[in-house]
Amino acid sequence: MSAVLKGTLMYLANRRPVYRLIMQHDLLRGLTQRYVAGEELADGIVVAQTLNTQGLLVSLDHLGESVTNGAEARRATAAYLDALEAIAEEQCEASISLKLTQLGLDLSHEMCVAHLRKILERARQLDTFVRIDMESSAYTQRTLDVHKELWNEGFHNVGIVLQAYLYRTAADVERAIEMGVQVRLCKGAYLEPARVAYPDKADVDANYARLMERLLIHGNHPAIATHDDRLILRSQEIVENEKISRERFDFEMLFGVRRDLQLRLVREGYRVRVYLPYGKEWYPYLVRRLAERPANIGFFVRSLVTEALAGRRNGRP
Ligand SMILES: Cc1cc2nc3c(=O)[nH]c(=O)nc-3n(C[C@H](O)[C@H](O)[C@H](O)COP(=O)(O)OP(=O)(O)OC[C@H]3O[C@@H](n4cnc5c(N)ncnc54)[C@H](O)[C@@H]3O)c2cc1C
Repeated sequence: MSAVLKGTLMYLANRRPVYRLIMQHDLLRGLTQRYVAGEELADGIVVAQTLNTQGLLVSLDHLGESVTNGAEARRATAAYLDALEAIAEEQCEASISLKLTQLGLDLSHEMCVAHLRKILERARQLDTFVRIDMESSAYTQRTLDVHKELWNEGFHNVGIVLQAYLYRTAADVERAIEMGVQVRLCKGAYLEPARVAYPDKADVDANYARLMERLLIHGNHPAIATHDDRLILRSQEIVENEKISRERFDFEMLFGVRRDLQLRLVREGYRVRVYLPYGKEWYPYLVRRLAERPANIGFFVRSLVTEALAGRRNGRP
């Protein structure tokens, strides 16, 4: 049952009319607070500073994806340049995370590369790391191609994300190890067909454990991006057995998820980076977060109904 609900939610996440309806009527705003720092860069910076004081590192994400025109892609690029300046000015311990469809990948490969190059140039001057998030499997190869093009131009301050649910990822991990590219390993957040991704969670988890081991032992500063207690325990065993220094990898977790675990790992002396989104385009991100957890789905539906009814009572259309 929850798989059907999850599928429905993820389907809705990609429907423009539903998105517009929710944004126009200001629904679900209450739910965003758990997962999103706020709508403005200043909100992201304030939360990043607070997390830094708790010993947590940050990766700032200016929310947005799948832009439909060049002006939006230029605005997203400018927003990232602003974020880089703010990180430097405020001396935050923060990198940035971005999505290529936000920089215009759907419009033109060249445009996307040009925007990313601009960001990487400024990031290199400011000594800041840039992570390219991984989107649905329709973009995997194109994302890796853009990354490789800029990597071959000499930009090595940029890393990728690989998703353990995809069959192809084992081969992508080996290529990344060979190139010395920094990989963030996650399970994968999109709805994928069995043609390209393991349908069973147990298989995804087993693949994650295998790939994590490869990256921890042979990779260049991997990021173990999961909140899964069992996988984190397994990573700690590998690190212990292989005598891998805690400086050589990061744990990464999402803002608003398993805060207890984030702080515990910091206390135990691990590097923990929090993925911290901010911005006005929070809807698709929020739906992916809600769909990850069956308990969240009921919460989502209840919030939608309650906020819609409250809106009606307040005279909102
Ligand atoms: C730093 C970071 C970056 C990411 N970047 C990408 C990316 O670029 N592309 C991509 O496809 N995916 C990305 N993801 C999402 C990832 O693919 C998973 O969908 C997500 O992390 C949930 O998987 P999990 O590994 O935590 O394991 P799960 O087995 O899903 O969850 C383990 C436990 O974590 C907790 N938990 C997990 N998610 C939530 C939630 N949303 N709300 C509340 N509790 C939760 C629950 O306690 C759950 O039992 C990223 C995740 C992280 C942590």
